[in-house]
Amino acid sequence: MDSAASRLSWTNILFFAAAHLLAVAALVHLALDFSWWTLGLAAAWLVLCGLSITAGYHRHFAHPTHKAAWPVRVFYLFFGAASVQHSALKWAADHRDHHALTDEEGDPYDARKGFWWSHIGWIFVEDRHPLDLGLVPDLAGDPLVRFQHRHIVLLGVLAGCVLPAALGLLWGDPIGALLCAGFLRLALQWHATFSINSLAHMLGTQPYSRQCSARDSWVTALVTFGEGYHNYHHRFPGDYRNGVRWYHFDPTKWLIFLASKVRLTWDLRRIPAATIEVARARVAGMEPRAGEASSPE
Ligand SMILES: [Zn+2]
Ligand SMILES: [Zn+2]
Repeated sequence: MDSAASRLSWTNILFFAAAHLLAVAALVHLALDFSWWTLGLAAAWLVLCGLSITAGYHRHFAHPTHKAAWPVRVFYLFFGAASVQHSALKWAADHRDHHALTDEEGDPYDARKGFWWSHIGWIFVEDRHPLDLGLVPDLAGDPLVRFQHRHIVLLGVLAGCVLPAALGLLWGDPIGALLCAGFLRLALQWHATFSINSLAHMLGTQPYSRQCSARDSWVTALVTFGEGYHNYHHRFPGDYRNGVRWYHFDPTKWLIFLASKVRLTWDLRRIPAATIEVARARVAGMEPRAGEASSPE
């Protein structure tokens, strides 16, 4: 980290700290004035926002693994804004950099710099990756994506604060709804997303490629709506599935698949099974790495 102290992003650090304090306030509020409605809303928001990032920002915008009808794209963009991870345009550009430069200088969340850097450290310093539209030419002309990019703060406040608080009015707990579905949900969702950049490059096995640090782990998949099969994903980023086996826990692929049954998504891209087996066999033929056998699959 070259002179990271001089490049700290105080806006990000203060917002991150404030959001976590409000998440703690949400827990206190729940302990003092518990409501199943408020807890249910927070859980629903966690699922809606989480899937908007995994199915939307990641598997639709960053990697065009499926096509989606406009209501689905609006859903991805609206709840994606509540996730406070930049606009889809910026997120996709950063993520394409991550795939092109994995474990190299220029990887925005380079796992070689350790757990804390790839988890949250990279957010605490000034962004050295100004939006490069050359990385996202397919998205730059999309009117919905451009609208979200222009109004990302307003949309984030609407989807992440105003709407949950308004729903909370229905059962007389707008403050609890704001704290729980707004900030407790946000803190949990952040750490789930960040663990894809940190844990998914450190914990698990490498059945498909050893070209980069990405790893497959059901543990990370469990908390990331299926994104923990990250070794497969780095080897075949064009596949709408990350957990490629039918029994792999990947709610994101199930959502995209179910939506395709009612024509809300289509052109789901799958890597042929034979190609996947060739990659697996090639890696299996290599020498095992020290310690790999003890990692969870
Ligand atoms: Zn990765
Ligand atoms: Zn990706």
